Amino acid sequence: MYTPLAGKSVLFLLCTFITSGLCSATRAVAQTPAHWKVHDMRRPRPVLVTPGKQSLPISPPSDAIVLFDGKDLSQWRSAESEPPRWIIRDGYMESVPDSGYLYTVQSFGDAQLHVEWAAPTPVKGDGQGRGNSGVFLMGAYEVQVLDSYKNDTYPDGQAASIYGQHPPLVNVALPPGQWQSYDIVFRRPRFNIDGKVVKPARMTVFHNGVLVQDCAELQGPTRWLQHLPYVPHIDKLPLSLQDHGNPVRYRNIWIRELRETIEPGPTTTDDRPVVALPLATLEKYAGRYEVSTGEVYLLKVDDRGILTADFFTAVDLVPHSEKEFSLRWTDGTIFFDLDPQGTPVGLTFDLGGKQRVAKKL
Ligand code: MG
Repeated sequence: MYTPLAGKSVLFLLCTFITSGLCSATRAVAQTPAHWKVHDMRRPRPVLVTPGKQSLPISPPSDAIVLFDGKDLSQWRSAESEPPRWIIRDGYMESVPDSGYLYTVQSFGDAQLHVEWAAPTPVKGDGQGRGNSGVFLMGAYEVQVLDSYKNDTYPDGQAASIYGQHPPLVNVALPPGQWQSYDIVFRRPRFNIDGKVVKPARMTVFHNGVLVQDCAELQGPTRWLQHLPYVPHIDKLPLSLQDHGNPVRYRNIWIRELRETIEPGPTTTDDRPVVALPLATLEKYAGRYEVSTGEVYLLKVDDRGILTADFFTAVDLVPHSEKEFSLRWTDGTIFFDLDPQGTPVGLTFDLGGKQRVAKKL
């Protein structure tokens, strides 16, 4: 049962041709490959963790593309672009042995993916032959699906492993027959114009709500008994589900396409000059200011000689003129109303598109 079923399909796809959120480009620590042989049984087993109670199914957010809602396989096809032969029953689909992988009709690159699956009952087989399937991002990078409940195998091939590369951080597998969830954040590999990898693929995975892959970097495509280099491919490819000969069930599959990169844009600059006001002048601003709603702002000069405002927490006020002060580090501004002698009689607090007018008490 250890047949490299991924081989033909992945090769077919590869031959035909990063960051916000969890995997930041500036992230200092990522889960990196350890120096173990592929499928090394000497590798330590991930610690068992019992997940908290989840309310499955988890409904898709409004911007998700629903890939399977339990009713039909219209979003899926076979490797030969024919209608898939997996069966649908009672709101789930089930892998039919020797029916082949499923591929999404649509292609995806960077994405957040939610998948619910259940290993078959009654239990048959052991190791890699028990409840084996898999979720292949871009048809090439597998998050392993396996019945890993009291079923030992090589750690880089158990449930929630990135197959042949990264064991899960912990083993959160539930008993066969119970619905389990994967939530996957995937960043595709980046290639330069010469086809060289400039950034490897990365994955963060939650299994039954527990972190099991922490921005793990992939060494290349995943494959049985292989340690493959990257082969350049296009930016979007179909997602696939593995037929490994076991009747694994899937339901409630949805995906959110992620923005490829953080768009460069203007940074906030403050061209207003900062002026130095004498302590005696600053002292004139101190006092209590009341908004019409009854809210009171307390301004005072602190031990450092800086005017502060108490907005539940003390905020430094940076003077740009005798009338205009900004709230340090924020986009808030206070404009003071001054009488002819230059003494504040009120203020307007401007923040977030709202203005609050207060009179000095
Ligand atoms: Mg598999």
